[in-house]
Amino acid sequence: MSAVVTRFAPSPTGLLHCGNYRTAVFAYLFAKHTGGTFVVRIEDTDLARSKKEYEENIFEALAWLDLPADATYRQSDHRARHRALLEKLVADGVAYVSKEIPQAPGDREEVIRFRNPGGALTFTDIIRGDITTDVTDLGDFIIARSFDEPVFHFAVVVDDADEGVTHVIRGGDHISNTARQLLIQNALGFPTPMYAHLPLIVDSSHKKLSKRAGAKAVTQYRDLGFLPEALLNYLAFIGWNPGDEREFMTKSELVEAFDLSRVQKGSAVFDEVKLLSINQHWMRELPDNDFIERGKLHAPNADMLTLLVPQLKERAQTFIEAQKMLDEDLNFFFAAPAIDLQSLTKKMPPAREGFTREALLALQKVVIDLPEKSSAEDIKARIMPLADAREAEGKGGRGGMLWPLRYALSGRERSPDPFTIISVLGREECVSRINAALKLFS
Ligand code: GLU
Repeated sequence: MSAVVTRFAPSPTGLLHCGNYRTAVFAYLFAKHTGGTFVVRIEDTDLARSKKEYEENIFEALAWLDLPADATYRQSDHRARHRALLEKLVADGVAYVSKEIPQAPGDREEVIRFRNPGGALTFTDIIRGDITTDVTDLGDFIIARSFDEPVFHFAVVVDDADEGVTHVIRGGDHISNTARQLLIQNALGFPTPMYAHLPLIVDSSHKKLSKRAGAKAVTQYRDLGFLPEALLNYLAFIGWNPGDEREFMTKSELVEAFDLSRVQKGSAVFDEVKLLSINQHWMRELPDNDFIERGKLHAPNADMLTLLVPQLKERAQTFIEAQKMLDEDLNFFFAAPAIDLQSLTKKMPPAREGFTREALLALQKVVIDLPEKSSAEDIKARIMPLADAREAEGKGGRGGMLWPLRYALSGRERSPDPFTIISVLGREECVSRINAALKLFS
């Protein structure tokens, strides 16, 4: 077999959603797995609908996913070639200029039609096996609206041949186009590439994945704080798996393992919950400083931000979520919170406020006595016996101690546990926050 050449051939007539890039991922992985070439071709023959901004978005998405093309083409650059071959087909009598009766405003009075020889045509799809079409039913189909306006079927066949494409890997919605394209290929004397039509991608309600149903663009995932390696990992698994237990794979592992023979026939579900968990996995894999840098995270105090990375890794599934936590739920790490006596003592009956004060005084002493650096477990081991002792004395126990401690430190209903907070905030700051809480009693 000659060296593999695959292509991704998007039409820049709208913002592509991320499911569309599964084709690019498979074409790229297959090419690289076999040591072949990956081509990107912008199919902009529909000049009225093709837009520069969509084309730019395609290149932005491919660059971000790290799917670099070995060669890039624009279909509209090949107009002279398309015209020459259309003229040849007409000269050979394989196609003809057909007079039409316009049915609607804008319809042409003349188009170029392919002289369909009829009969059954079979091609072998790598994923789906033999597919036979009775081409007679297609009639003399249109291959161009004028010599300078080939339709997609014609342009795609010429360009694939000229670019040496050996494997056409594309969405299953193109299966019904293949027979027409084979007829044109045969008429032009071009070799037939291998075909691999990928399974349909559906949403969670089993409808075809679409932008209308909320499928996001790749660049939107980027802007939401996803990692490109996570999206790549996820897209590779839409209709394919490595045949073992692995679900987290790097790009080079994917290249190594990818094979068209493991692509499934049946439709595949796009599951954003799964994508989030894959993203969280790759976020957690990052060293803490990379986590901050790649997440473009910012906070009032860089040292404190570094200390908080484990908290962010535990909770955030995207970097936008991580930043939001820094700005909101975890912002008490950067400045002492506002607190009030009512909330501080709410776990105690009104007449027993004094117990909270006592508890805080005892806790403050524990904190003062902590070694310079203490882990949350060490801190817990010092505080829990105290809480249990107060429980035995009927003075509010764990809740009566841990609530005011956590509230004094965080000013929040919900936060990481107080031991973690103390280990991150450090001794001095905690002593001063407990002091502020004690002042509420005077
Ligand atoms: N340009 C076509 C599309 O965006 C793809 C053509 C092909 O893969 O053959 O659907």
